[in-house]
Amino acid sequence: MGGPMRPELRLDSAVFRSNIAAVRDRLGDSALMLVLKDDAYGHGLRWAVETALEAGVTSFGSYDVRGGVEVRRIAGGEVTVFAWATSTDEEIDEALLQDIELGVGTVEYLRRIIARAEILGARARVHLKIDTGLHRNGVRPEDWAAAVAEAREAERSGALALVGVWSHIAEASDAEDDAAQALFLEAVRVVGLSGPRPASLHLTASAASWWRPELRGTVSRIGAFCYGIRSADGPELDGVRPAARLVAPVVRVEGESAIVAVGSLDGVPSTLTGMTVGTPAGSRTVSTIDVATMTVEGWPEMAVGDEVTLFGPGAQGEETATTLAERIDTVGEEILTRLGPRIRRRVVD
Ligand SMILES: *Cc1c(COP(=O)(O)O)cnc(C)c1O
Repeated sequence: MGGPMRPELRLDSAVFRSNIAAVRDRLGDSALMLVLKDDAYGHGLRWAVETALEAGVTSFGSYDVRGGVEVRRIAGGEVTVFAWATSTDEEIDEALLQDIELGVGTVEYLRRIIARAEILGARARVHLKIDTGLHRNGVRPEDWAAAVAEAREAERSGALALVGVWSHIAEASDAEDDAAQALFLEAVRVVGLSGPRPASLHLTASAASWWRPELRGTVSRIGAFCYGIRSADGPELDGVRPAARLVAPVVRVEGESAIVAVGSLDGVPSTLTGMTVGTPAGSRTVSTIDVATMTVEGWPEMAVGDEVTLFGPGAQGEETATTLAERIDTVGEEILTRLGPRIRRRVVD
């Protein structure tokens, strides 16, 4: 008894650190850039950055400049921070002042960055993005040489340093990823013709970095696997376990069922009805998911305050976030990033 009467996401720092170590081991010569978007995949940015620093991480990837500034505040001046979302001029200024490296996928954005750097007397650190087939954001191959020429000119005038070339791949099929890599390598070659080759070359995220070493650049941008979230429909990963578990207390016993204090308003999709959760007596089935509670098949001597684990590493018989996600055709990250503000994050190790 005496557990919290509201749900908690429990964060295991030792597991997060050992996942990071396993990922770095696997990456070999490719340097880890830890991806922190969506509040560190729902785990909480501050905990993720502080714990990763303890694990020796020196490079962080944040979706936008706002998040990047937050990382800089937590981590201090020694680490590399990369933000890849296209930013407003105010955000560009902030990035320049806080030494945040910028991912740039359009010539228009490149020109705005150069203009702001000239005004501030700063040197923008830019990673130029080639579109290798996703058509989201990225300079098209036919426009690449001209974009590189503009970046090199700004480099000569002191407004820019071209520190990286990058892209993002689909990780949908090996053939598509191979084609994307060919475009990427050609873009790197073209950059090399116009000056020194940038140190940061990055194309792959968790799955491709782990399973397809030949696609890795000098840097790998990894989120999911460091948090212990395996790919949906993907295999288990050696040395990687979920760093978070979602726990909620029994608030009422009704006949043969336990009523547990977590529900769809907390971000647990009601389509997960039928899922398995962990209880003090092992795995049990969830029969309904309501707004603030769920009904779980009972166990002998169940009592108010008993803890039920919705997802985690499996210690109570629960599933992982990815296994739950697979039931509703999504990815494990989605299960974590949906969790609502009522759920407290608590560091347990
Ligand atoms: C989310 C993201 C990543 C990390 O992907 P994971 O599969 O979580 O490792 C890397 N790069 C970009 C651009 C991303 O948006």
